[in-house]
Amino acid sequence: MKSQPIWLYVSQEKIYPRATSGLFAKWRWAMVIVTQWVFYGLPWINLHDRQAVLFNLEARRFYVFNLVLYPQDFIFLTMLLVICALSLFAVTAVAGRVWCGYACPQTVYSKIFLWIEHHIEGDRHHRIKLDKQPWSLFKAQRKVLKHTLWLALSIFTGFTFVGYFIPIRELYFDISTGALGAWGLFWIAFYSFATYGNAGFMREQVCKYMCPYARFQSSMFDKDTLIVAYDQRRGEPRGARSKQADLKALAIGDCVDCTLCVQVCPTGIDIRKGLQYECIGCAACIDACDSIMDKMGYPKGLVHYSAQSLKKAFRGRVIVYAGLIGIVATALFTGLALREPIRADVIRDRGSLAREVENGFIENTYRVQLMNTTEQPQEVFISTEPDSGVEVTSKTLIALGAAQGLWVPVSLVVAPGRLKPGSNPIYINFSHHQRSVKEKTMFYVPRNAGN
Ligand code: SF4
Ligand code: SF4
Repeated sequence: MKSQPIWLYVSQEKIYPRATSGLFAKWRWAMVIVTQWVFYGLPWINLHDRQAVLFNLEARRFYVFNLVLYPQDFIFLTMLLVICALSLFAVTAVAGRVWCGYACPQTVYSKIFLWIEHHIEGDRHHRIKLDKQPWSLFKAQRKVLKHTLWLALSIFTGFTFVGYFIPIRELYFDISTGALGAWGLFWIAFYSFATYGNAGFMREQVCKYMCPYARFQSSMFDKDTLIVAYDQRRGEPRGARSKQADLKALAIGDCVDCTLCVQVCPTGIDIRKGLQYECIGCAACIDACDSIMDKMGYPKGLVHYSAQSLKKAFRGRVIVYAGLIGIVATALFTGLALREPIRADVIRDRGSLAREVENGFIENTYRVQLMNTTEQPQEVFISTEPDSGVEVTSKTLIALGAAQGLWVPVSLVVAPGRLKPGSNPIYINFSHHQRSVKEKTMFYVPRNAGN
């Protein structure tokens, strides 16, 4: 007998999700509207005469509403990310993949793109039919219109995304005057292309094959995690029947085998086969099945969210996640509350290590980066420790604008014989009102000084 070849590669079949309505569809749309209002609107909000949320990489300054963070404050951003990650773990342990189903950008943009596709090419069976048809003027018009709208939305999304890193009003002005540089254009094109490709073409494949969260979230699941489930005992044996059929006489379950739950699934799976890693917990199959149950006059919930998870929300692993979130959040807020209004970085001037000035005094020069971490202008007084013998000979009072960073040259001198030859540890003080920041550095005295 001739053996059949086993193909290791199977090309992906295109999924045509059918439109659905119902309680969970409303929730999904509510999340689309909320997340997109926040995403597209936030960069246009101004606070203290600057963009309220801006990660200005060029100026090396991050603004998050009233907070101004410098690269030295990276620890706070890290803590914020850790809190977000732990929150996602906690939500996953309790509510499964609700993030994936309702709020993940991949899901949200796929839904918006599908909505456009649905309004131009029609629902599932129309789209399947259109794709199978040979090219015609009608088909070309539908496709051109769809891709034009997809591209316009993708470009707007790319522009908005870059607007979180380059002040968005400047970005808009530069684009409208043709003054935007190559890097700005590149990043807008990059994020536009990513949106167009991921939401228009890759869709469920991103969730299935590319998303790392989809891969490791199963380790956060336990028997009490909220999942979308099919009630096998109630539904089986499945089969078509009339509305008036006597189920007991036919010995069949409530599933009419309409396959609507499969047709609406954005990842193309059949929830009746049990929990599968492709399921993003979007509940489209619940809405679809509930509509059939309604039509048949059966109770809803043949496909449902497993409910015991919410009753057991406060269980071991969730309490551990909540505890860790509490610890990191406390550290973050304490750190922010104790953060000095002034930051100073002292760098020795490598060009001139030390030089002898008037009366045999030794001078060292430094470059100091002063940063105002507040939104109010400040004056900083530069001094040294009173008993160190080191004096400041450069300008001692420095004015800093709101959230301004400034490089300041600082010259220090010491009397001959006051410090030993070689490197001497010293402190430079940066005082602002009653508070003072002390920075350690080295004062170098040449071995032949005073000869
Ligand atoms: S099986 Fe249901 S909940 Fe899971 S992805 Fe498909 S439609 Fe969404
Ligand atoms: S939608 Fe409900 S009734 Fe229809 S096939 Fe799916 S589980 Fe069965």
